[in-house]
Amino acid sequence: MERINLMGWILEVDINKTEEFYNKNIDLCNCLYCKNYMEACKYFNHSILKVFNMLRIIPSKPSHLSEFGEVDGGLCLYAGSYHVVGKLIEGVYCTNSDWNETNTARIENFTIGFPKELEFVHNELPQPMLQIDFEARIPWVLDEKP
Ligand SMILES: [Zn+2]
Repeated sequence: MERINLMGWILEVDINKTEEFYNKNIDLCNCLYCKNYMEACKYFNHSILKVFNMLRIIPSKPSHLSEFGEVDGGLCLYAGSYHVVGKLIEGVYCTNSDWNETNTARIENFTIGFPKELEFVHNELPQPMLQIDFEARIPWVLDEKP
C-alpha cells in the first residue's frame, strides 16, 4: 500500500492491484453519451489526468457513468464512479445526499468525493476497495450528435 495525499485526503492505495484491474477488459456501456465521455478522456486537462495517473485509474473505464444533459456553455454534465484498491485514512466521506464543498474537491472541470457506501462495484476488484464519485462538465467531442 502506498500513501497518497490527494487534495487533503490521505489515501492508502495499492497501485499495482489497481493498475492490474484497469488493464483488464472492463465491460463499458456503448451508448453515445458514454462513447463521448470515453473519447473526451483523450483531451482531459493535465491536472485531472495527474490525479487519475497517481491512482492508476484509466479514465475511459469508469465503473459507472450517467449523463444529465447540456449545462452552461454547451458542456454535458456527467456523474460517475471509479474504484481503486485502497482505503481512506484521513479526510471526510461524502454521501449521495450530502455532497458539498466541505466533503468534495474541485479539480478543473471535475468535482470528486469519496462515498462511504460503495455502488457499482466490480467483482474482480480485490479488497479493500475505495470508491471515487465524480461530477464533470465534458464537451461534446463526437461528430455524431445525440
Ligand atoms: Zn451509456
